[in-house]
Amino acid sequence: MERAFKLLGWVVAALLLACGMAGTASAAVPLQACVARLPAAATEAERLLAAPRQYDCTTRQNEHGPGNYAVRFAFDPVSPAAGDPLVLRTTSVWQDAQRIVFRYGDGTTETLEWNSANASRYMTIGAIFEFPVPTHAAPLQAIHIEVTNSANLRGVVLGAELMTRSESFALKAWLVALYAGFAGLSLALLTYNSALWVALGHRFQLAYCGMVASLMAYTFTSSGLALLAFPSLDNNDRLRINYVLLGLTALAAVLFVRDFFSDAARDRRVRHFTILGGAAMMVTALLFALLAPWQIHLLDRLYYIGGVLLLATVVPVLWTARKQGDAYLGLFLLAWSPPILTTAARAAYGFNLLPYSFWLDNGNLIALAVESLLSSLLIIARLRVLSSERDLAREGEQSALRLASSDPLTGLLNRRAFIGRAVGRSGVHRLMLIDIDSFKAINDRMGHDIGDEVLCEIARAIQSVRIPGSLAVRMGGEEFALLVPLARQGECLPEQVLDAIRTHTMPHALKVTASLGFADGPVGSHDEWKRLYRLADAALYRAKADGRDRTCRATGFAGGIAARA
Ligand code: GH3
Ligand code: MG
Ligand code: MG
Repeated sequence: MERAFKLLGWVVAALLLACGMAGTASAAVPLQACVARLPAAATEAERLLAAPRQYDCTTRQNEHGPGNYAVRFAFDPVSPAAGDPLVLRTTSVWQDAQRIVFRYGDGTTETLEWNSANASRYMTIGAIFEFPVPTHAAPLQAIHIEVTNSANLRGVVLGAELMTRSESFALKAWLVALYAGFAGLSLALLTYNSALWVALGHRFQLAYCGMVASLMAYTFTSSGLALLAFPSLDNNDRLRINYVLLGLTALAAVLFVRDFFSDAARDRRVRHFTILGGAAMMVTALLFALLAPWQIHLLDRLYYIGGVLLLATVVPVLWTARKQGDAYLGLFLLAWSPPILTTAARAAYGFNLLPYSFWLDNGNLIALAVESLLSSLLIIARLRVLSSERDLAREGEQSALRLASSDPLTGLLNRRAFIGRAVGRSGVHRLMLIDIDSFKAINDRMGHDIGDEVLCEIARAIQSVRIPGSLAVRMGGEEFALLVPLARQGECLPEQVLDAIRTHTMPHALKVTASLGFADGPVGSHDEWKRLYRLADAALYRAKADGRDRTCRATGFAGGIAARA
């Protein structure tokens, strides 16, 4: 476990390093936006007349509400190095169209127009628009953007920055690596959690798969990749899909938490809470997707309220788990604190309590990566408990089986287990029945306990001559048996068995002998077994009758010839 924690530490450090590198890969010039509201049906002249004093550089952009805007960026004139032109990067937000005017030191201008239907032309990874800035002899002095039908939920133009094409390339390379890493991690998570679900069938594993799958889908749309894959997709429609997929992800996450703590999952009130929260989230997400831009501010606000309601349902679940003293709560909270914190930050952003940041949008990817790594430890801990329980159960089962099939005094097979293993064997076998001579006298003279010791020593003597593939059994009382495949009878002759008993060291140097009757025949069925046993028993009887301490062979073959006992 300690090693796993160290490994996790390295992975997290590498992740943070990658993010840090992505964050510092550019020497971009952040642009301060000043906005001016334009009349709903502004004419070209009116737009141009949006005089400098009408521009507002201090009020938060989204406080001006939805509508048409003129945005102005003023900065120190920039001249790109030869061969490395500038690009203007802005974050994708809900709006219908933009007209971007680049103004140069010599008074010339260049114009670029785009709308949400052809937005894929400028979309790059991370849902960031990248507009090439035409190069002129004179330095770039200002940028004006006219925005048509901006929803202005978080701002009119967000995250605007100027950088060189090579800087942008380096940044995009880092982002591609980050998203690719996330895609790989998600696929691995999806594969191994669905395999776990198939193997173990816990519902929370299914919810986890749902969460990872919807987060992957959300990342596909929110990163702008959806627009690159489907260039005809309207960018505003992409944003509608974002709302639904993020809602689904949150819903799956809450179901996962609820089902993970099974006690909480059984509580009816808790179930109702999560269902209500989930419904609130999904209804508001669908309303936004279907109705926006109509009442877009209200719908967006309702959506985030739905999200907060849904996330609030986690509180009674965790509370119930705490009350039940769930052993995994601590590790669970540790694993889930990064996603919980990033989700809280996102909700705060949704309520305009936090300013825009690229990492607010993408922080949940990194948080999920950390969570999944910590959850793997959680799963390891659970699997450890499960496998040690399984090992214990298996051991118990095996010792129960051993007990049920062996004779408690001598450790040899008992009669029932012996018959179970003997009957059905193919081929001809030799059955030797061994009965201790005058054992009752030993018992009478030395006591029952010494008699028991003698029985154990007899068992050892028999074991010492037993060959692989044969069975040794205590049939009951002071009678033992050996079943040997006839093909190998030469390796375990009846006389050798009696010799082993005679020469075996007995308690109190007792001289103990036995008589042995044997017969050959098949044991494929119960009838064949019975016939063989009868023959060997008759031979044993004869050995006793003939004076004991000797072997006697049955005078028939159990394959059909009657015994002449
Ligand atoms: P024979 O040579 O004719 O076989 O004589 P025997 O005395 O060995 O045979 P008998 O059937 O007269 O007596 C068997 C004795 O074995 C009687 C019984 O008390 C004893 N016995 C049976 N099971 C056990 C056991 O588990 N422990 C001990 N100590 N004695 C046992
Ligand atoms: Mg007997
Ligand atoms: Mg006896």
